[in-house]
Amino acid sequence: MSGYWKALRSALLVSLVGVMTLGATPQARGQDTAGPTYEVQPGDTLASIAQQFGLSLDALQAANPGVDPAALPVGRQLVVPGFDGVAGRLMVHALEPGETLDSLSLRLGFTRESLVRLNHVVNPARLYINQSIVVTDQPDSGPALATGRVIEARAGSGWLSAASAARIHPWALAAANGLAHPWVAAPGQRLALAGGDAPLKGLPGVIDSFDITPAPAEQGQTVVLRIVSSAPISVTASLNDTAFVISHDPADPLTAYGLLGVYRLTEPNLYPLSVTITQADGSIYALTQAMPVRSGRYVVDPPLTVDPATVDPETVRPEYERVRAVVTAPPSGARLWTGLFALPSVGVIRSVFGALRSYNGGPYDSFHGGVDFSGAEDRPITAPAPGIVVMAEPLTVRGNATILDHGWGVYSGYWHQSSFQVAVGDRVETGQIIGFQGATGRVTGPHLHWEIFVGGVQVDPLEWTERAFP
Ligand SMILES: [Zn+2]
Repeated sequence: MSGYWKALRSALLVSLVGVMTLGATPQARGQDTAGPTYEVQPGDTLASIAQQFGLSLDALQAANPGVDPAALPVGRQLVVPGFDGVAGRLMVHALEPGETLDSLSLRLGFTRESLVRLNHVVNPARLYINQSIVVTDQPDSGPALATGRVIEARAGSGWLSAASAARIHPWALAAANGLAHPWVAAPGQRLALAGGDAPLKGLPGVIDSFDITPAPAEQGQTVVLRIVSSAPISVTASLNDTAFVISHDPADPLTAYGLLGVYRLTEPNLYPLSVTITQADGSIYALTQAMPVRSGRYVVDPPLTVDPATVDPETVRPEYERVRAVVTAPPSGARLWTGLFALPSVGVIRSVFGALRSYNGGPYDSFHGGVDFSGAEDRPITAPAPGIVVMAEPLTVRGNATILDHGWGVYSGYWHQSSFQVAVGDRVETGQIIGFQGATGRVTGPHLHWEIFVGGVQVDPLEWTERAFP
């Protein structure tokens, strides 16, 4: 991961940080109004702070002449321009899954209107997970409900019975939620209940925790959804129109894991994350929230010239469909791996995943779907993790090809082998020899091309050697 990513990630994950002082600070030359300031936190950079407050780096630097971006001390007060008329200490809250302007209003003690104004919200439906929500230390809609839980008024039974089930007087519930009368709440509306130790979130009470990482998601990487509940639930989830593969460890049935591969050529944008949670009594909670997908900063390979037959759809398509059928088969069993994947070969990595490619003068509309290890004929290929062999057969373009099923919708592929050492149905363990490098298929020399598929989508295999999933 790049330093930029780490800095951005730390900035995004910090919740409710930042300290503001009233009035202009000594370094706020040229500020004649009491503009707010921000206290630099560990991990901050000028760029991450500018992003947090929706500013350009230039605007932030112009407001803070004399601040050296390369030596930004923790605790330094920075003037934050662009918040005319705002008083008090500014703070930043990272938007959590399920949070809406209404639940934020309760949790942070600000009116919906203040949140809209402070954050220049144009469309509340476009608030995205981990978005920096700016507030001040002067709540204007009553005390914040830092802890509590959300109860939902169900259609059919009404929310008065929900209040009764929660053992709270309807009027007290109405007052806590800023409602003039208890009967103003509509069926399906979620109301907050103060108390307890758990942070108040916009999720139903059956959800103990809900994490999605990384957010923003990134082209070509793997996203993990993890939902812990206090009672049995069933979960379906998708990002845009790609479904997460949802799985459970038998030993921990109250934790649902979702894995999703972000297609490498996804346009960076906000996409709808949709999660549906069904409880044992049949009640359904549906969340739809914007989720950013950002560019993966991949390299662009020089134009490639290959045998036209290699890119001829007549040849490529049937083989692609054959591989696709194997790697999109419904998950058949348990997760077979734990921790990091190993590298399947020694040798120099000659070509990385995701590089944009143009073949024979065509457009740059394809990418390298795996990792190439420079090779030597008959160098061993070893399993990077336990798995079941689900394909071992000669293909036209990929040559002698083996695919392992690791469970939970995760597959790995090994192309261009000189010979097979395993057969369909074999169970293999980490480090076991599954084949030998070769030059079968459409290649210019011996090498191993290694791929990982998550839910049928090619992802960067090296991420699996650096980050333990799930
Ligand atoms: Zn390759």
